[in-house]
Amino acid sequence: MDFYSTQIRDLVEQLSHLPGIGAKSAQRLAFHILNMPEEQVAGLSGAMLSARKNVRYCRDCCTYTDGELCPICANPKRNHRQIMVVENSRDMAAYEKTGRYDGVYHVLHGAISPMAGVGPQDIRLSELMVRLQNDVDEVIVATNKNLEGDTTATYISKLIKPLGIRVSRIASGVPAGGDLEYIDEVTLYRAFEGRTDM
Ligand code: ZN
Repeated sequence: MDFYSTQIRDLVEQLSHLPGIGAKSAQRLAFHILNMPEEQVAGLSGAMLSARKNVRYCRDCCTYTDGELCPICANPKRNHRQIMVVENSRDMAAYEKTGRYDGVYHVLHGAISPMAGVGPQDIRLSELMVRLQNDVDEVIVATNKNLEGDTTATYISKLIKPLGIRVSRIASGVPAGGDLEYIDEVTLYRAFEGRTDM
């Protein structure tokens, strides 16, 4: 890339650190940015910076939010006695899109994977256990239907059952190994409705 001047090279390099962006895409994006109106570039970089600075974990469910509580946890109309456990905020968004779930969530930010060296202490499980000290009727484990998701579900079930709280697992309408965020809303809701006790 020696034929590019230093600042262009720097921009291309920064962009190429983003996931899914190879050298070619990084160059394309860099030149696109150079052709954007300056205010638009300022808006983009400003949004990135302020989101990075201000977004944190929700006090209750651990999803990303910029307040103390996310809009779902802060909503008194949601059923706070039903908690759906998901692997990440994108899965939570997928269930929200069905528009038919009125409980709250808990975002683990990962799944247990002995192969990848991810243990129970590496995901947001202790935060879930703290929440269960309040009145909770049911914990619905909606982790992905793959080895890591199933391992996590079994682990959670073993932890929670002794507390006398109902633990259920979403049905297998979700294809094995399927990432929840790519599944259509009807299938997703069916998996929720067809959940079974663990
Ligand atoms: Zn929340």
